[in-house]
Amino acid sequence: MINRLSIIGVGLIGGSLARALKKANAVGQVVGYGRNIEHLQKALELGVVDKYETDIAVAVRDADVIVLAVPVGKTLEVLQSIKPYLNSKTIITDVGSSKGAVVKAAREVFGDALENFVPGHPIAGTEKSGVEASFAELFENRRVVLTPLDNTNEAALKIIRRMWQDTGALVEQTSVEHHDDVLAATSHLPHMLAFELVDALATMDDKIEIFRYAAGGFRDFTRIASSDPQMWHDICVTNEKSIVAMLDLFMADLERLRDAIKAGDSDYLLQVFTRAKKARDQFSMES
Ligand code: NAP
Repeated sequence: MINRLSIIGVGLIGGSLARALKKANAVGQVVGYGRNIEHLQKALELGVVDKYETDIAVAVRDADVIVLAVPVGKTLEVLQSIKPYLNSKTIITDVGSSKGAVVKAAREVFGDALENFVPGHPIAGTEKSGVEASFAELFENRRVVLTPLDNTNEAALKIIRRMWQDTGALVEQTSVEHHDDVLAATSHLPHMLAFELVDALATMDDKIEIFRYAAGGFRDFTRIASSDPQMWHDICVTNEKSIVAMLDLFMADLERLRDAIKAGDSDYLLQVFTRAKKARDQFSMES
């Protein structure tokens, strides 16, 4: 049980974590902090937080655990602003979708004194944002990846592992680098494709009324293009190397597909589609 939990950024992920821990009776008091008082008031009305603070110093004072649930690009400024108010026992964790930049920001603020900092990332979400979109079941049976550092305190790691288990999540551990490479492939690349596809079609739309004829396939494939632009901007900027590597690989494959279509290479097309269908069907059965 975490006695006092401070959530910096009570949006979809921060709000869902608070709801899940309350539902599991795994937290004493949840204190919320954000920039916009109307959002915090909403979080209080919805019962997501027990109280909120508009002064970050007060929000983190006496917290046992502080969760950073802000866009990754805001990590540095938030860590700088809470640093003076931490005690030696306060555990800090985060939920950011890229981990290298979060750890870099933490090192910039705390140097090597990172024992109580446990980087994390729940592999769960929706295309919606804000506390109204949060729900307690978001993490149930979903993976949460923790990327502890060489000097991460075992007791702090155990508390954060337990916190996520209490939400119903399956907790795993990997390195920061492996996390960023894998997520570039499975999450960041598909988001780039969805954003780019919708933007490209929207630009053509005037001429050939594309969206009028768009159906279920388009809807399924592009749902994630409704995700928050600022959040995805931050992910691109902070995981640039891995995302560019994935895009390069993918563009080479796309080029081969284009050439096969142009050349009427039925063998190649059927091979790709059959392999992909098999992999997708297998993934659906397992997930
Ligand atoms: P969200 O719904 O937009 O929530 C972000 C929250 O941060 C908002 O409540 C916002 O409130 C607050 N905020 C923004 N800047 C702030 C600042 N400088 N100081 C304090 N609070 C600030 O976004 P989200 O989807 O929960 O994403 C939060 C984090 O989770 C991101 O790092 C993202 O990479 C990660 N994540 C997202 C997903 C997903 O599918 N959405 C999945 C896994 C991980 P105010 O505007 O009121 O300040």
